[in-house]
Parts: sequence; C-alpha cells; structure tokens
Amino acid sequence: MPAAEDEARPAVTLVGDQWSPECSVLRTFLTRSEVPYTWLRPGDPRGAQVLADHGVAAADTPVLIDEAGRVLHVSRPRGLEPVAEWLGLHTDPGGGAYDLVVVGAGPAGMAAAVYGASEGLRTVVVERWAIGGQSGLTSRIENYLGFPDGISGADLADRARRQATKFGAELVLTRQASALAARDGGGFTVGFADGGSVAGRAVLVATGANTRTLHAPGVADFVGRGVYYFSALTEAPLCTGQDVYIVGGANSAGQAAIYFSQCARKVVLLVRGDSLEREMSTYLIKQIEAIPTIEVRTRTEVAGASGDTHLERLTLRDTRTGATENANATWLFAFIGAAPDTAWLGPRFLRDADGCLVTGNDIAAAGAAEPAWPLPRAPYHLETTVPGVFAAGDVRAWSARRVAGAVGEGSMAVMLVHAYLADR
Ligand SMILES: Cc1cc2nc3c(=O)[nH]c(=O)nc-3n(C[C@H](O)[C@H](O)[C@H](O)COP(=O)(O)OP(=O)(O)OC[C@H]3O[C@@H](n4cnc5c(N)ncnc54)[C@H](O)[C@@H]3O)c2cc1C
Repeated sequence: MPAAEDEARPAVTLVGDQWSPECSVLRTFLTRSEVPYTWLRPGDPRGAQVLADHGVAAADTPVLIDEAGRVLHVSRPRGLEPVAEWLGLHTDPGGGAYDLVVVGAGPAGMAAAVYGASEGLRTVVVERWAIGGQSGLTSRIENYLGFPDGISGADLADRARRQATKFGAELVLTRQASALAARDGGGFTVGFADGGSVAGRAVLVATGANTRTLHAPGVADFVGRGVYYFSALTEAPLCTGQDVYIVGGANSAGQAAIYFSQCARKVVLLVRGDSLEREMSTYLIKQIEAIPTIEVRTRTEVAGASGDTHLERLTLRDTRTGATENANATWLFAFIGAAPDTAWLGPRFLRDADGCLVTGNDIAAAGAAEPAWPLPRAPYHLETTVPGVFAAGDVRAWSARRVAGAVGEGSMAVMLVHAYLADR
C-alpha cells in the first residue's frame, strides 16, 4: 500500500560513494521526494559498519536500508520506479477512468491538480520524477506573488503536494508518459514508458522543459561526478570552502551563483555572452555585484573537462579570441536553459520551431501549418490541435516561462477542461 501522501516518511540510510552518479541521483530524488535520509560513504567507519551489519560489499553500493533492515540495491538501468515502490511512494494510478489526466507535476501540473480536484474533477497527475518540476531545483524564487521574502522550490513543491492531496488529487510518481491515444467512445489513454497506462476524459500536458546539457569533450563522462545539471541543491553542502564553476547567463544561473556563494570559497560564473544584462533580471545582477566572492567571466565557455575518478580540470575558451586555458575545478553546475520534449505525443500536435505545443488562437494564427485544428468550433485558449488535450506552462508555445505563468495556466486549464467536458 502506498503511504498516504501527508504521512511523514520513515527515515532511510543511503550508503554510496560521493562520486557515484547513481548515488548523486538518489540523493536528489530522496530530497525532492521529502524522504528523510542519512547518507554514509562506504569508506567511512560508520558506512563500513552499516554495510557489514547488512552483509553488503562496498562494491555493491549504492544501497538503501530502512529502519526494518530491508536493503535495496540500486542500479541505474532499473531506474527510480523500484526505489519509489520500495519507499512506499505512489507509483500506480488507482484505476478506472479519470476526468482529467495531468502529465507533469511542475507548477502548471500541480496547479491543475489543486483546481481540478477541488472543483469536482477526478484528477490524477503522472510525474516521471518528483514533484516540483524545474521550480523544485531553485534555491529561492523571489518573484512569485505572495512570497515577498522568497520561497525555495522544495518548499513550494511540498506545499503544492499537500494542497493537491488535501483535495483528493492522485499523484503517481516515477512514471513517464510515453504515448497518448484516443479511446473508442471518447477520452484518451496515456501510456507509460515501462508499461501500464491511465485513462482520462481530458488530458493536460504540463511537461515543462528539460534542462539542456553541455556539449564539450569529456563533460558527459563526469555527470554526477563533478558535473551536475539538476542536483545543485543536494550537492551544495559538499562544496563548502571550495571553488564552484557555474555555467549560464540567465536567472537560474544567477540564483545558483548567489546560493553557492554562501558556502563556496569562490564562485566563477561562466557566461558566453558579453554581459549579464542580456538575459538576467536586474535584481539578481545587483545581488551578484554585491558579493565579492562571485567572479563573473563573460565571453567564456567550457571547451572540455578531464579528471580521473571525478572532475579535476576544465578547459575554458574565450569566445572572442578562441584562446583556451585550463582551470582546476571539482564542481561544475550548468544552467543553460531548457527545451520541451513533446515527441512522445506523436504527429497530431502542432508545435512551434522549439517543439512547444501551439494552442488556442495561436493555432489559427499559424495559418496553413499542419496538423490543422479538426473541428468546426474554435479551440479553447489552452487546447492543442487534438481536441480535449490541453497544454499549460513551459511546454506551451508563447508561455511566460515563469512559475506564476505556469500556475496561472494550470489553473485556467481546469476551467477550460470543464467547458470541454460540458460541451460533450
Ligand atoms: C534553476 C531554475 C530557477 C528558476 N527560477 C525561477 C524564478 O525565480 N522565478 C520564476 O518565475 N521562474 C523560475 N524558473 C522557471 C520556472 O521554474 C518554470 O517556468 C516553471 O517551473 C515551469 O513550470 P511547468 O510546470 O510548466 O514545467 P516544469 O517545471 O518543467 O515541470 C514539468 C514536469 O513534468 C515532468 N515531465 C516531463 N515529461 C514528462 C513525461 N513524459 N511524463 C511524466 N512527467 C513528465 C517533469 O519531470 C517535471 O516535473 C526557474 C527555472 C530553473 C530551472
């Protein structure tokens, strides 16, 4: 039985190496899923003792051990679903047809869950990872209405989870939607990558955008071993007193630089463009200018990474002259934008050049673009070219790409789903 969503989760022990990519992913997942845990390295006396007590060899880590002594060996190919199941997280829909299937548990999807469930729709949210989406990566959101002192992404995600479950929304974690098909007699089936599916009368695609990755020789070899894309908050305590490199010139990189400056000896912000002004909000630039331990290096890009068991060196390139230099570096965090992944939806959806879903009036504005809107009535504002399938948040073309925008669209989508269902 899955644990009730508002129950405090029992603590677990994670034994794994600092430079194990699997261990890094697990720490992020446990943190993002609000599971209290103690992390021990296999080489430390306590870690070695715990492994010996449970008959586990250091080579077989990472492992999770719960208070009852159950041991879960974690391996990358099996993904996070066995971990989520072992932890008692909800990984399967309750069954039957839902009024609304929401894909994605970022701000847009969670807002739809709150409004859908509180306004009488049987609502399920399917999330491939953990609640919070991109906003869950953020140390401090300062521009979201109602939080004058800022709020961390983790706190916002936890509030959303409690609010959605309070109203009866079902949250299904670690399941990736990989197919969408119309059902005979109406409605849709959303298929999962690892088998299984869920059916709903309407679907909201709130899958946001995926973090872009750095393409430079060697970088891919050190992901989870010094190079990180989405686990900055979990790794931060390990960076205390050390130098941290951050790549990116937009708000997310600026927030990360400020966050790491609280623990790192020095933060080097690598920006390809001429200045921060082009992409970063003024309030963040001012904060960065006031922190002496942040060095901003404009016109600089990562040209390579090297090391042994973990990242040890970066090659940096001057984007104007092409000149390169080496820098000793153990920590590199990249915040270089995000792109939507909508390929799984198939060819019936109109997308813009970036792959974002075109909705509502923008479908007509796209003129003769194919696929076209198929019905005599006009599409609802957030409706895609597949009637009954809506899109909200960063995955939608022309969205604001902000938490408030995603929350607003997710909430509005529920009103439009009501109108669509009433029409039928
Ligand atoms: C580091 C960082 C800092 C930011 N700071 C701010 C800020 O200060 N203020 C601000 O307003 N905005 C900020 N943003 C932007 C903001 O977080 C996004 O605009 C917002 O999260 C978009 O919400 P969303 O729900 O549309 O998508 P996302 O947050 O991207 O959530 C989408 C969710 O869908 C899931 N998903 C994707 N595909 C599938 C699938 N096939 N099956 C199941 N689940 C799937 C993902 O795992 C994810 O959880 C920041 C972004 C980042 C990365």
